[in-house]
Amino acid sequence: MTWHVPEPLVAAYVDGAVQGARAASIEAHILACADCRARVNSAVSVDRLTSIWSSVLDDAENPRQSWAEWLLTRAGVPEADARLVAAAPSLHLSWLASLAAVLLFAAWASNTSDRGAALFLILAPVIPVLAVAGAYGPRIDPTYEVSVASPYPTLRLVLLRSASVVAASGALALAASALVPDGEIAAAWLLPSLALITLTLLLTRWLALPVAAFGVAAAYAVPLLAITLDHGGVSTALTSAALQWSAAAVVVVALALLTADPHMRAAMRRNP
Ligand SMILES: [Zn+2]
Repeated sequence: MTWHVPEPLVAAYVDGAVQGARAASIEAHILACADCRARVNSAVSVDRLTSIWSSVLDDAENPRQSWAEWLLTRAGVPEADARLVAAAPSLHLSWLASLAAVLLFAAWASNTSDRGAALFLILAPVIPVLAVAGAYGPRIDPTYEVSVASPYPTLRLVLLRSASVVAASGALALAASALVPDGEIAAAWLLPSLALITLTLLLTRWLALPVAAFGVAAAYAVPLLAITLDHGGVSTALTSAALQWSAAAVVVVALALLTADPHMRAAMRRNP
C-alpha cells in the first residue's frame, strides 16, 4: 500500500470535520490498513466515543415516530399495533403523494367534460383500493419477513393496515371531491369505493392482499375506462340510483360475510 492517511487528515477525521467521499475513502482505507487504523484509534478522544455511543443508544431506545404512528397512538391504538401498522408502505408520504396527484388530476378533469367526470368516478373509488394493495405483502413491504416471523396474527395486521390506509387515502379522495363542482359526481364515488374495499377484504381469504386489491381495482376500472375512451362518459350510469344501491348491497353482504367469519372476528378483537 503506497498511500496512508496523512496526520492532519487523521486529526480532521476524528474531529468529524471530514465528510462525504473523502470520509468514505478514509474509512475504506482504515478497514484494510492496520497502521492507519491504530493511528485513528489513538487519535480519537474517549469523550467523542462516549457521545457517539450514547446517541446510538438513544436512537435505538427512542426511535422517532412516523406521522402515521403518532396519529395512531393519539387515536388510542396500542403502541405495538401502531408501530406495525405505520410501517405499511402505502402510509409513506411518497405513496400518498402519488395517490393525491392522481386524485387532483381526476378532480380537475371532472370540470372539463362528461368524460372527465367519468374519469373522476372511475379513479376516486379505486384510489383507496390501490392504497390497500400497498398495505401488506411480500414484494412491497420491507417489514414483511419480520411480521411473518413475529408472534402477531397476520390477518389482524392486514385489517389494521387496511383500515388505516383506507382512512388516509379516503381523506385524500374526500378532499379532492371538494374540488368537483357537481355535487352528485363529488359524492357518487363513495359507495362504489366502500364496495370495492369490502370485496377486497373478503377476497383475502383466498388471495394475497395485493393480488386481491389489484384484481378488484382492475375489474372495476379497466372495463369502465375502455367504455369511456370508446364511447364517451359513463358518469350517468355511475351516478345512477341503481348503481349506488347495488354498491350499498355489495357493502352490506361483504360486511356480513366478513363479520360472520370466526378468523376475521378473532383478528378484530382488541387483544388477540
Ligand atoms: Zn494506511
